[in-house]
Amino acid sequence: MKFYNTLTGKKEDFKPMDNSNTVRMYSCGLTVYNYAHIGNLRTYIFMDILRRALKYNGYDIKGVMNITDVGHLVSDGDDGEDKMEKTARAQNKDPYAIAEYYTKAFLEDFKRLNIGLPEIICKATDHIQEMEDFVTELINKGYGYETSDGIYYDISKFSKYGILSGAKIDDRKSGARVEVNTEKRNPYDFAIWKKAPKEHLMQWESPWGMGYPGWHIECSAMSEKYLGEEFDIHTGGVDHIPIHHENEIAQSYGKSGKIHAKFWMHGEFMLVDGGKMSKSLGNDYRVTELAEKGYSPMVFRFFCLNAHYRKKLNFTFEALDGAKSGYERLIAGLLKHKDGENTTDAKLLSEYEKEFFDAISDDLNIPAGLGVLFSMLKNPASKDIYNLALKFDSVLGLKLDEVKQEEQQESDIPQEVIALAEEMQQARKEKNWAVADSARAKLTEMGYIVKNTPSGYELTKK
Ligand code: AMP
Ligand code: ZN
Repeated sequence: MKFYNTLTGKKEDFKPMDNSNTVRMYSCGLTVYNYAHIGNLRTYIFMDILRRALKYNGYDIKGVMNITDVGHLVSDGDDGEDKMEKTARAQNKDPYAIAEYYTKAFLEDFKRLNIGLPEIICKATDHIQEMEDFVTELINKGYGYETSDGIYYDISKFSKYGILSGAKIDDRKSGARVEVNTEKRNPYDFAIWKKAPKEHLMQWESPWGMGYPGWHIECSAMSEKYLGEEFDIHTGGVDHIPIHHENEIAQSYGKSGKIHAKFWMHGEFMLVDGGKMSKSLGNDYRVTELAEKGYSPMVFRFFCLNAHYRKKLNFTFEALDGAKSGYERLIAGLLKHKDGENTTDAKLLSEYEKEFFDAISDDLNIPAGLGVLFSMLKNPASKDIYNLALKFDSVLGLKLDEVKQEEQQESDIPQEVIALAEEMQQARKEKNWAVADSARAKLTEMGYIVKNTPSGYELTKK
């Protein structure tokens, strides 16, 4: 299998370290001060697909995902309020209760979206001692130093700082904003431990007085605890590249002298209507909100799978309508085979299997994998094809084994419209433009729009 490694900027052959059959993988989890929005969940669907593809290839997985319940400040500089405390104050609740509530909601979203749980889920607040020990070691090794408001990491001590994002420290310096904290040795030094003012809700005793950990130290400390000083894959969203992961690498390298993860894989962002998702714009949708509007979690998952994880994905309700019709077409195509006879040639089946495996092994090209599935389903009804589709679904995770005839009938797109779209698709393939154009015109007349996608087409009502 080949995966794109942010660390090297290349697609590289993947093999677990030490010839092991077990892939050790760390994924940055949610900061549980709010519900996960569909953008966050896109990143966890990517993590899930990666885990499933590795399993499909016969590997075992030891996956760790943290839950950030302390230390993630509102600003990426080391000032501003802790996000957990902000919500706790706004809701007049204990931050632990806030963390518990949103962690539960997050994991319920995993279930809805059929995202498999990593083997180990660990909370930052359960690992304060490990983080303190980590900070102590960084101080002892000359990477950490104390100021009046915390312990900072001296980035001038780490010559590889910027290795992940490729940003040069000198470039960063010139863009540095006016520093509030004049005790820092370098503008981009970051807090690994913060001293807590009295009113701070979450704080612990430490060799440096009462305080709380910086955000990045939790991932260095917990990944080392559960996966060792070196492991195979680290995942997160692209926003983690320039700061969170860069800082994590600096910390772990400071302690162990090694870059702790071999492959760094990052999921691109989801946009909404071409822009940023945010609470203030009211577009930070949850999957449950989509379900209330008639889009099942599997439709949302299918929507995500139609874009490569390294491409931006623009969420709009029109696009989601397209995904819904694509998903319905997939189910209709699949159910045709459910009671089919075993008539498919073994050679043809193994060709589809190979094509599918090649697609997912090429840096998780799931859109191409879906394309293989759709073409395979066009064959005459066959139980062999049905079974192979379910095998593919062990990677796609669309719960194809659970879909029933009723769900197909729920589709509000008439069969004649689907048949016409199929005819148009076939004509396009054969470059029979006259037939394709006439089918498109009829569809327009009937009130439908067909859009070509990597896995076939999407049908939406005008
Ligand atoms: P956070 O709670 O901010 O640490 O975010 C949890 C995960 O969601 C991280 O891996 C982020 O990179 C990811 N994430 C945040 N916003 C988006 C978005 N709009 N699209 C995709 N992933 C996102
Ligand atoms: Zn992290």
